Amino acid sequence: MKLSRFPRLHFAHLPTPLEPMPRLTEALGGPQLWIKRDDCTGLAGGGNKTRKLEFLMGQAVAEGADTIITQGATQSNHARQTVAIAAKLGLRCELLLEDRVGTDSQDYNYNGNVLLDHILGAALHYVDAGTDMTAAMETRAAELERAGHRCFVIPGGGSNATGALGYVNAALELAQQANDQSLVIDCLVHATGSAGTQAGLVAGMVGARTGIPVLGIGVRAPDNVQHANVLKLANATTSHLGLGDLVSAGDVLVNCAYVGQGYGISTEASIEAIDLLAKTEGILLDPVYSAKGMAGLIDLIQRGEFSADQNVVFLHTGGSQALFAYRTEFNVPHYRL
Ligand SMILES: *Cc1c(COP(=O)(O)O)cnc(C)c1O
Repeated sequence: MKLSRFPRLHFAHLPTPLEPMPRLTEALGGPQLWIKRDDCTGLAGGGNKTRKLEFLMGQAVAEGADTIITQGATQSNHARQTVAIAAKLGLRCELLLEDRVGTDSQDYNYNGNVLLDHILGAALHYVDAGTDMTAAMETRAAELERAGHRCFVIPGGGSNATGALGYVNAALELAQQANDQSLVIDCLVHATGSAGTQAGLVAGMVGARTGIPVLGIGVRAPDNVQHANVLKLANATTSHLGLGDLVSAGDVLVNCAYVGQGYGISTEASIEAIDLLAKTEGILLDPVYSAKGMAGLIDLIQRGEFSADQNVVFLHTGGSQALFAYRTEFNVPHYRL
């Protein structure tokens, strides 16, 4: 898997740690639980988009862009990480934020990632739910190009065959860490949304023949749609690497039973997962992605899907900055002496 032939900038803090979670393991009665800390990739709070952006921004710089355009939900972690690296590179950044959750909560609309986007210097454009975001970005790019700018448009979540290379690299990195520690990883579990993370991981795990299965817990789409999205992008990624369509349908494991009412809407189980990780391991999950991913993993453990001696790695994809947008989901008492 020759990643070095692709343009890439090196700004992520890598490798991210692979740590045991003994207190969570004990609380759930096994399997042996580990966490891969991609919440610690270092870019203004970090998260999974940073790995993708190393390759995407490598391409943007190679093409001479002066303006980066991308899109996401209002509390997009991808948007925050994109504007952070744009700032570091001295590039303009415009963010199209979709009102996907449909709330008038001040915390949701102005705190968390939105506050950070603003501080980092993004031009923010709010658009209605259901807008064709790809078309909206193209329209904005055309406007800016007419004004003399050179735009580079990054798809939502940084999920294309270029961005997914960041997670091919992550698969190789994790396999190396497992080998170094003589750790047999029976399953890698994470939250899947725009599919680039899982597509890259599966492409890497299959391409390097690691034998490590990757289970994506969905946060938005139903199973069949998510499965198709991941499979398509995984093969686009192996093809981009010059290996052809390497990934078969059976390599892509998704479970979208933990979405609840919809994208960005908490469930009882997702709030419980945040609570449990915080109080057993001192680790902060995010309300939109990793909390649902962890809620799924906890449920599968409780259903006996894993034996006590198996090793399961949870990929923490970041996003705890969005907790501030979801403040009212947590009952913070009003203390008085
Ligand atoms: C974007 C994101 C994901 C999902 O990754 P995809 O590559 O979009 O599937 C998971 N967790 C967090 C915190 C994210 O921001």
